[in-house]
Amino acid sequence: MSTPLPTQGVSAAAATGAAAPDRPRGDWAHGLDALTRQDPEIAGLLLAEADRQARGLQLIAAENFTSPAVLAALGSPLANKYAEGYPGARHHGGCEVVDLAERTAVERAKALFGAEHANVQPHSGSSAVLAAYAALLRPGDTVLAMALPQGGHLTHGSPANFSGRWFDFVGYGVRRDTGLIDYDQVRALAGEHRPQAIVCGSISYPRHPDYAAFRDIADDVGAYLIADAAHPIGLIAGGAAPSPVPYADVVCATTHKVLRGPRGGLILCRAALAGRVDRAVFPFTQGGAQMHTVAAKAVAFGEAATPAFTAYAHQVVANARLLAAALAAEGVAVTTGGTDTHIVTGDVSALALDAVTARARLAAAGIVLDICGLPHGTAHGLRLGTAAVTTQGMREPEMARIAVLLGAALRGDGPDGGPRAAVTELVRAFPPYPAHI
Ligand SMILES: *Cc1c(COP(=O)(O)O)cnc(C)c1O
Repeated sequence: MSTPLPTQGVSAAAATGAAAPDRPRGDWAHGLDALTRQDPEIAGLLLAEADRQARGLQLIAAENFTSPAVLAALGSPLANKYAEGYPGARHHGGCEVVDLAERTAVERAKALFGAEHANVQPHSGSSAVLAAYAALLRPGDTVLAMALPQGGHLTHGSPANFSGRWFDFVGYGVRRDTGLIDYDQVRALAGEHRPQAIVCGSISYPRHPDYAAFRDIADDVGAYLIADAAHPIGLIAGGAAPSPVPYADVVCATTHKVLRGPRGGLILCRAALAGRVDRAVFPFTQGGAQMHTVAAKAVAFGEAATPAFTAYAHQVVANARLLAAALAAEGVAVTTGGTDTHIVTGDVSALALDAVTARARLAAAGIVLDICGLPHGTAHGLRLGTAAVTTQGMREPEMARIAVLLGAALRGDGPDGGPRAAVTELVRAFPPYPAHI
């Protein structure tokens, strides 16, 4: 990692010294105790939510358990700092320390993903996509993206979202026979509609997009390629999924899904687009950066660069593969027949259940997951992810157990004591904040 340039008279060494043991830490470092004394009502809610997370099986594909180190950065006085602009070019004084935090976050992101440029300021994944469109497109431009019922995100052209209002979206989908992206259709639609940008990325597609194929199609029609890697970016960081960085003009991501950092967004791009992307984030779509979150992103990028995280990312995929196979044995029709990622989606209609009833039965058993649209289906299905349970240290045997408990809860016939008791017993052995993080 390159050393950040000192700004406004404060050196990196001086800033690093802030962590010295003799430096007074102040009352903020005892945050939860202070909150409990001052506002027991909200402190109680924080503890109740921690308890809810620990007592259930958290299978929401977009969620994870971020580390205590990330939580510490989020609960720090960096939250007080106004920092409009970029390091070395801020609209506010007193940014010399937070400038170093942002430079570190940017350098770590660039190194982690092999990207020429990184912007770590987007407040969320949606903000990152908004900024990517703002950098590359004009209102009224045509964009080719995965159709929402097939797995596209709100920001890929929903009429309820800015994207559907300001751009002319055309939707591609997956093949009926395989459930895989229909690249012939993508190519045909690109030729017909001549989009200014093509978006690849999804909220529920369990396989890897063929980034080279998307690049080829984009080049054929002179379109930008935007990869919305909000879901797989953590797998990419850990080397457990192919990277869109060599192919896409702009990569948008979240930092809170498999990547296990703070809630937030990230943009990676080529150096040639750096200025346009940075201006699209600030001042075009955002004001001051949230410097506590930027520092927490730096912490998460640091964690993601470790061998432990590489092992984690591979285990996330191994767990999802086993879970998909075990769920199929329980009668769930798994989309695409399996997964390459942390995501498993499936249809429960063969169990004579609709997805809403299924989710309610699972919730009663302490199993928390999402329902999602299924490509070409009239019914909704279930969407599960293995990022959080893998952070808890669960492996293949636990995935097999989860599938059995899930099947029992769906059918309404539990093992001894019912699935709720068995879920409680399982998660008790795997607390959300194990020492191995
Ligand atoms: C999660 C997600 C987003 C949005 O992230 P938020 O932080 O919720 O705004 C955007 N695109 C895709 C594909 C996603 O999965």
